Amino acid sequence: MVSVIAFIGLGRMGGPMAANLVKAGHRVLGHDLDADALAAAVAHGVEPAASAPAAAGAADLVITMLPAGRHVLALHREEGLLAAARPGTLFVDCSTIDVADARTLHEAAAAAGHRALDAPVSGGVVGAEAATLTFMAGGGEAEFAEAEPVLAAMGRKAVHCGAAGAGQAAKICNNMILGISMIAVSEAFVLGESLGLSHEALFDVASTASGQCWALTVNCPVPGPVPGSPADRDYRPGFAAPLMAKDLGLAANAIRAGGVDAALGLRAAEAYAAFAEGPGADQDFSGIIRAIRDGALGTSHTTGTIEETTA
Ligand code: NAD
Repeated sequence: MVSVIAFIGLGRMGGPMAANLVKAGHRVLGHDLDADALAAAVAHGVEPAASAPAAAGAADLVITMLPAGRHVLALHREEGLLAAARPGTLFVDCSTIDVADARTLHEAAAAAGHRALDAPVSGGVVGAEAATLTFMAGGGEAEFAEAEPVLAAMGRKAVHCGAAGAGQAAKICNNMILGISMIAVSEAFVLGESLGLSHEALFDVASTASGQCWALTVNCPVPGPVPGSPADRDYRPGFAAPLMAKDLGLAANAIRAGGVDAALGLRAAEAYAAFAEGPGADQDFSGIIRAIRDGALGTSHTTGTIEETTA
């Protein structure tokens, strides 16, 4: 049974996750470069550590929840997290990072005599607060089994997806589906508008027909059909567009590295990058419908028709 957990990165996600570990009875040694983030976690029972390596050196298991792969690798290698830990420590990285970076971290941990698990999450800040996150894990069976009770205190589901990097792979593949499908649903509503079709009529049909998907029935990009959706509150997140842009950027890296023919994934990554840098910077990712309606994402074909085919 794990008793002492080091938790590094106590931001929007890490703060409430660490608080839930405290609630579940674990002793949590926390560290964050941001004094306010650390203070908020301390108010929930996290013990402040003098530094990240100091926390890791006193822990049975180390969890990291950091912005990006470069922070994760620098902290573990150059900033001494791996060097400070007791031999055989299990490092669980819950950040969303590149699959290649995750594999590099597994290798670095093994070279330092430790063990690792990549365990990114889905569920957002609401899920982190309510301990209803889904974890997607990559690494060995034994490591997953050891981490599972700890993950259970922060979420309601943990899936062992395979070997090193498989958790990150599952995360970016899932979010690629989500990004593409949100654009598809948004384009369908905008096309419907141009054809005189009401939002309600399209929703009533597609939500119970073959167009049904999460982007339509849970995070519907037009106000009205799904009470409480981000569209109903002027597109306040929710799942912020810059986070979708980040995840699709990771997917695009993997698509290019693998030479995969995933044109829609690449196009979705471009669209969300443009949206997140502009009006979407502080909006839910479903706000992309406004950019589509405004023609801000690129191609609007007003001439020419595609010949009807007789298959
Ligand atoms: P955040 O910016 O709120 O928190 C990151 C924290 O890490 C910050 O408080 C920062 O000060 C700290 N930090 C950075 N480098 C550090 C270091 N070397 N040592 C100690 N602390 C350090 O970000 P977040 O929203 O909590 O996201 C964290 C990760 O979770 C990201 O990888 C993100 O993609 C992923 N994620 C976020 C969400 C979401 O809805 N916010 C959902 C799923 C996954």
